[in-house]
Amino acid sequence: MDCPGCGVEMVDLKKEDDLTLRKCGECGGLWVDVSDLNRMLLHNNLPGLEALGGKIDPEADSGQCPDCLVDLLRVAGGDRAHPMSYDTCESCGGVFLESEFKEATDAKGAEREIIEFFRGFSGKAKKKAAVAGA
Ligand SMILES: [Zn+2]
Ligand SMILES: [Zn+2]
Repeated sequence: MDCPGCGVEMVDLKKEDDLTLRKCGECGGLWVDVSDLNRMLLHNNLPGLEALGGKIDPEADSGQCPDCLVDLLRVAGGDRAHPMSYDTCESCGGVFLESEFKEATDAKGAEREIIEFFRGFSGKAKKKAAVAGA
């Protein structure tokens, strides 16, 4: 399967447990199946993808789903200081995260990075507690 961003072949990070998780060696983006993504989110005390909010950006040119060859939908979230977005395929439910996921060298690292991403996306990123008097 090719990266929707760069068109180069993505690498499977894990194939057991029917987990669909692929990484692009070129841009560092991750592709994950929506049911696998929801399982990860719930395991990490986050709501499912639909409950995380975000706004569909109809103007975005987000490329095509490599499997279905339909245009991906750009969903924007985060907050004003840290806008974030992901792309999703309405046909197969695949989700493409177009960021550099440096630690996602295996499925575990990728899951950690995905959870971090969606914490930020939903605005639930842990804010550093202000140290009194510092
Ligand atoms: Zn790529
Ligand atoms: Zn698709």
